[in-house]
Amino acid sequence: MLEIKNLYAGLDGKDILQGIDLKVNAGEVHAIMGPNGSGKSTLASVIAGKDEYEVTQGEILFENNSIVDLDPEERAHKGVFLSFQYPVEIPGVSVTNFIKTAINETRKAQKLGDMPAAEMLKLIKEKADMLEIDRKFLSRSLNEGFSGGEKKRNEIFQLAMLNPKLAILDETDSGLDIDALKVVSNGVNKIRNKDNAIVLITHYQRLLDHIVPDFVHVLMNGRIVKSGTKELAYELEEKGYDWIKEELV
Ligand code: ADP
Ligand code: MG
Ligand code: MG
Repeated sequence: MLEIKNLYAGLDGKDILQGIDLKVNAGEVHAIMGPNGSGKSTLASVIAGKDEYEVTQGEILFENNSIVDLDPEERAHKGVFLSFQYPVEIPGVSVTNFIKTAINETRKAQKLGDMPAAEMLKLIKEKADMLEIDRKFLSRSLNEGFSGGEKKRNEIFQLAMLNPKLAILDETDSGLDIDALKVVSNGVNKIRNKDNAIVLITHYQRLLDHIVPDFVHVLMNGRIVKSGTKELAYELEEKGYDWIKEELV
């Protein structure tokens, strides 16, 4: 699904990512871990196509086609989802109305008409039930006065509704409390299936107690310096990152 080859990218002529190679297949969950400032969020932004970053070398292939020259909306319409795309408060726009608009925008790009209202309602009900989201939450104004857990609930709801092929969830700086952690892990576990892929960026090994990744990668200084299975996450929790640094020299 996603193949990143020798990717160099950064800003102001300085590469933050320094030769990333990563392959993600449908049905897989990949965790990306690494110390603060190692380039995790930059990698997420570069895959999603945020304008401020420039790719200077290498390739990003999504379903075998390069997406490097596409803007973020085009990538989203192909099925790439990045969490926190819409962190803003939008007073007067409910959780439901926001997602309706997002879905119909995507359909427009695919040259489809608006989703029929009855079908939309059915989809909303189905996903809200799956995620145990109550109706009151759906009519709240987007992000207005949301707690950390509610922000995550909204994000996971968007994810379930939009049903992207590839979801990139950057949890590093969000300070997940117990409530938010549960929302994210239960949601991701319900959403993951054999047709989609999830890249989960996290500082916290404990998130991986609840979402069991197929692969764990360690990012340091803009490179993936070690890859393994979930055991690697336990090793990192126990020993930190220094032993990997020592292995590298
Ligand atoms: P991580 O998510 O692993 O903590 P980031 O990708 O946020 O790391 O940052 C990697 C490095 O790139 C840091 O040194 C950070 O300061 C720098 N950086 C990332 N984005 C920007 C930006 N928009 N402006 C300036 N520096 C940035
Ligand atoms: Mg950071
Ligand atoms: Mg980050």
